[in-house]
Amino acid sequence: MKRTTEKLLKWYAEHARALPWRARPGERPDPYHVWLSEIMLQQTTVATVRKRFDDFIRRWPTVRALAEAPLEEVMAAWAGLGYYARARNLHKCARKVAHELGGEFPSTPEALRRLPGIGDYTAGAIAAIAFHHPAVAMDTNAERVIARLFAVTEPLPGCKPRLRTLAHELLPRHAPGNFAQALMDLGAIICTARNPACGLCPLMDDCAARKQGLAEELPRKQKNPPKPHREGKAFWIDRADGRVLLRRRPERGMLGSMVEIPSTGWDGAPPAFAGRTPFRLEFDRVRPDVRHTFTHFHLKLALYRLPEPLEVERARLLPLSPGWFWHPLEKLDTVGLPTVMKKAARLFLESG
Ligand code: SF4
Repeated sequence: MKRTTEKLLKWYAEHARALPWRARPGERPDPYHVWLSEIMLQQTTVATVRKRFDDFIRRWPTVRALAEAPLEEVMAAWAGLGYYARARNLHKCARKVAHELGGEFPSTPEALRRLPGIGDYTAGAIAAIAFHHPAVAMDTNAERVIARLFAVTEPLPGCKPRLRTLAHELLPRHAPGNFAQALMDLGAIICTARNPACGLCPLMDDCAARKQGLAEELPRKQKNPPKPHREGKAFWIDRADGRVLLRRRPERGMLGSMVEIPSTGWDGAPPAFAGRTPFRLEFDRVRPDVRHTFTHFHLKLALYRLPEPLEVERARLLPLSPGWFWHPLEKLDTVGLPTVMKKAARLFLESG
């Protein structure tokens, strides 16, 4: 096994991806950069995170700066990265580190896991990369490489403990951070999910899946049940002075604290102002519907708009609950709409 690890580390020394959050040779990794990038990379591609990471670091160069930022600003900066609970936990975690831990991240996986938004993988990655702690970090890339290297045919997620144990057997105690990043990079560049480049792989002579002709089949995955379909309605209520009515969603639940175009619940529940307006609001249907897929369901959002913008004085008669506000249309880009609402806003603007 030692030989396999050596080959992997040698390959990494020559082929590591240059990523903005990685320390250059001779530099100490910044735990804040490692943590921020790992949270951003959960469920999001490296290509998307590359630019957004730089924006975050420019705006909030330290964990203390991020902790002092209002949650709404962090949520708006997160818009488009999806999985918004991550942004709320990011902010909570920054506050905890800044206010309770003196601005220093803990160095062990056990202590890191006690922070908001940090699970097994992220704790292992931060501990190994930022603090050289002998931990493994099993992301999908690492799982794929290990499953193939040892020809593990049991499907995911059941085989996860076995993959972790096998990765531990390869873990070099002198270079846990490079080992974690080498597995990630090998999985991203060579041992890809489809068409792995086995002929270029530094581990080809040691790889059981390659020898057995199983490389493309592994890792196997348990079949997920099909995602359910949900439906809702979104309403475009604009004013003659170029403002549109938006609302901030409640902190808990899907897209918590994000800004949205007023909508029904996605189970058909009416919007909060229904029945309480002092005059009847008539809407035209806008086509096509918005279709968006979340982790656990598909959503179809039917769109409705006022035929004409409301006169400002008349719009002021609408009783607005806390969290509802009129927002300038020309600043819609900066309010931090989640992707599903961006799709709806684009269709509304094209229909106007
Ligand atoms: S030989 Fe092929 S399947 Fe095996 S680790 Fe390398 S790229 Fe992956």
